[in-house]
Amino acid sequence: MNKIIDGKMISSQLRNELKTKVTTLLKKPHLVVIQIGNNEASQVYIKAKCKACDEVGIEFTHLKFPEEINQEEVIKAINKLNNDSSVSSILVQLPLPKHLHERSILETINPLKDVDGLTSANLGKILINEDGIISCTPYGIMKLLEYSNISLEGQHVVIVGRSNLVGKPLISLCLNKNATVTVCHSKTNDLSFYTKQADILIVAVGIKHLITSEMIKDNAVIIDVGINRENGKLYGDVDFEHVKEKVRLITPVPGGVGPMTVTMLLYNVMINYEKTNN
Ligand code: NAD
Repeated sequence: MNKIIDGKMISSQLRNELKTKVTTLLKKPHLVVIQIGNNEASQVYIKAKCKACDEVGIEFTHLKFPEEINQEEVIKAINKLNNDSSVSSILVQLPLPKHLHERSILETINPLKDVDGLTSANLGKILINEDGIISCTPYGIMKLLEYSNISLEGQHVVIVGRSNLVGKPLISLCLNKNATVTVCHSKTNDLSFYTKQADILIVAVGIKHLITSEMIKDNAVIIDVGINRENGKLYGDVDFEHVKEKVRLITPVPGGVGPMTVTMLLYNVMINYEKTNN
């Protein structure tokens, strides 16, 4: 039996559906990505976003500012985009240079144009189970579970990692699907005590092979969010080769959660577009 949750395949199916939908629109959705400074990883991520937008017909603008830009200038630029009716979505590429205040910058984005779901308005909506923009990686994980016919109701979901970007939104998203949720993090004592109880284990830490086969129970579903680069190769947070023997389903790295993240970004651009163009 195939135990792999194929993120590439699910992602390509979703992108094809989006492409068909965008083709029918007279005015195209428009994403603006703001980059500040020259972070190398950011360059790679922005390139991937641009390519994905191109593929489905979403207009893409890359606004690049120098490292030394001050807080007021960034806020002014975001406000200009907030007031520009040709722009459906705004994304500020993180991380920002140290002298800038990340939270105030993110909060400047109009929640109706927030495509990463990182404004407190959108994060709050997930908490109270109302429609809002869900940040792309957690949204992608929920889609992977849905497309793999995994119901969360009554299941024990253990999330390892509590970042605003991944772990925290997942707590609410899983609760909203009637799962019983446990959250572990860097200060958790005896991590394996919790991971061994998981029907569904979601790991978003950033430590290669943190989760070994002794730490999971038989027939668990494993979602590996981690991306760890070593000698040009990518590894997840889960020791895939050993763990795969025991699991019901597992996402590989690469080819699991990763492809879904950019796809859900395209999805969110479309959701924002529909909110303002209907
Ligand atoms: P982060 O650094 O913000 O958070 C890491 C979390 O791991 C923290 O909450 C911390 O408490 C927890 N942690 C650290 N050490 C731990 C330990 N020993 N045991 C248990 N918990 C521990 O990271 P993030 O932004 O949430 O990303 C996590 C990983 O997921 C990274 O590898 C990142 O590259 C990857 N990621 C992948 C995608 C994707 O599209 N596939 C998207 C976002 C993040």
